Amino acid sequence: MATPGPSVAIVGGGVAGLVCAARLGQLGITQTTVFDTGRHGPGGRCSTRKIDVGGKTFLFDHSAQYFTVSDDRFAKIVSFLHSKGAVKVWKGPIGVLKGGRFERSSNLQAFVGTESMQSVPECLATLSRVERPVWVGNVVWEPMAKKWKVDKYGYFDYLVIAHNGKCADRLMGNSGAPRIHDLLRVRFTPKLIHKVQQMQLCSLWVLLVVFPASLKLSFEGAFVEDADITWVANNTAKLGQRATGDNSECWTIFSSRQFGTAHKVPQENIPPGKADEVTKRLLAAFARSAGLDSRALPTPTFTKVQLWGAAVPLNVLDGADCVFQASHNVGICGDWLVSPCIEGAAVSGLALAESIHRHVRGERRDTGLGCTFKPVLGPAIGSFPTNSKLVFNPGGKTG
Ligand SMILES: Cc1cc2nc3c(=O)[nH]c(=O)nc-3n(C[C@H](O)[C@H](O)[C@H](O)COP(=O)(O)OP(=O)(O)OC[C@H]3O[C@@H](n4cnc5c(N)ncnc54)[C@H](O)[C@@H]3O)c2cc1C
Repeated sequence: MATPGPSVAIVGGGVAGLVCAARLGQLGITQTTVFDTGRHGPGGRCSTRKIDVGGKTFLFDHSAQYFTVSDDRFAKIVSFLHSKGAVKVWKGPIGVLKGGRFERSSNLQAFVGTESMQSVPECLATLSRVERPVWVGNVVWEPMAKKWKVDKYGYFDYLVIAHNGKCADRLMGNSGAPRIHDLLRVRFTPKLIHKVQQMQLCSLWVLLVVFPASLKLSFEGAFVEDADITWVANNTAKLGQRATGDNSECWTIFSSRQFGTAHKVPQENIPPGKADEVTKRLLAAFARSAGLDSRALPTPTFTKVQLWGAAVPLNVLDGADCVFQASHNVGICGDWLVSPCIEGAAVSGLALAESIHRHVRGERRDTGLGCTFKPVLGPAIGSFPTNSKLVFNPGGKTG
C-alpha cells in the first residue's frame, strides 16, 4: 500500500501560506493543512470586508488594494488566477494626490481580484485544505519523533510559520526551535532603526467610509502626499458596485505610518473616543488632499476604523526568500522575508515549498538562517515592484 507522504501544517492562510500549500500540492506533497484565523475568509492582509448599511451591502478592500507583477514565478501564479477568472486589470485612474491636484501614474499595470481582493485568496484556497477560523496557540517540536505537535490538531512532519508579528513571536517562543524564534522577534516602529537587526513592522489605521452621494472625484485610487494619510480608493468605482438608483460611494482611506504609531491602541479593543478622533482626522486629511471643503463633504452614512497592528514590514531578509531549518523540519514564509506586497508573499511561499520538497527528497540544507535584514526603500504602501523587462499579459504569454 502506498504511504500517504509527509504531512505539513501551515499556520497562516494569507497569500504566502496559501501559495506554499498550493506549490507543495503541485510537488506531490498533498497532506497539507492550512490553519487560518479568518472568520470571513482566508487571505489575511489580502481580504475584503462586506458591510451592510441600510439594507445595502458594500464591499471594502481594507488591506491590499491591488498588486503588481515583476517576477516570472509570480507571473505564473497570476496567469493561473486569471485563467480561473479570479483577477483582472484595474484600469483606474490611479495616481498621486497632493494639495487638491491629482496626477495620473502612467505605465502602472495594477491587478485586482475580480469581485474584490478576496477573490485572490479564495481562489488559492481551492487548491489545498484550509481549516478556519482556527487560532493555533501552541506548537512543540518533538525531537525523538521528529514531528511537530500542533495544538489539538495532532502531529505533523513539517511546520510552516506563515504569519508574523507578536503572534508568531509568542507561538514559537517555547516551541523548541530557538533559531527560528530568533528571526520572528519583532519590533514595532514608524521608522526603520538601521542598527537593529530584527524584523521591524509599522502599524496603520484604515478608515472605511460610505458617503450618501458621489464625491465626483476624477480618480479611483491615489497615493496621497500628506502627513496623516497615504492612500485613498473609491471602492464603489474600483469594484464596480454602483447599483442603479443608488448614488452612494464607499471609500478606503489609509493613515501614514507616523499617524499609525501616534494613535496606537489595543487593536482588538479600540476605545470609542479614539475611533471618533481617528475618523475625524482621516476624513479631514482626505478632504484637504482632494481639494474638497471638509464642511461640504457629505456626512457619511457609515464609518469604521481598523488598526492593522502588524501592517507593513520596514525591512526584509537579505539573501533568501524564505527560512528553513533542516534539523527541525520547520520553515517561515511571508512578505517580510522578500518584499512587503502580495508578490513578495507569494514568492516566499513558493520558495519555502521548494525547500520542503528538497528536504523530503533527502537534501539537508538550511535556508536563510544566517541572513541579516535590509531596509525596504520607499513608502510603507505603494513601493510595489515593477519590472520593465517583463511584458506581462496574463491571458497570453509572459516575455
Ligand atoms: C493596509 C495595507 C495595505 C496594503 N496594500 C497593499 C497593496 O495595495 N498591494 C500589495 O501588493 N500589498 C499590499 N499590502 C501588503 C500585503 O497585504 C501583504 O504583503 C501580504 O498580504 C502579506 O501576506 P502574508 O501571507 O505574508 O501575511 P498575512 O496576509 O498577514 O497572512 C497571515 C495569516 O496568518 C493568520 N494567523 C496569524 N496567527 C495565526 C495563528 N496563530 N493561527 C492561525 N492563523 C494565524 C492571520 O490571521 C493571517 O490570515 C498592504 C498591507 C496592508 C496592511
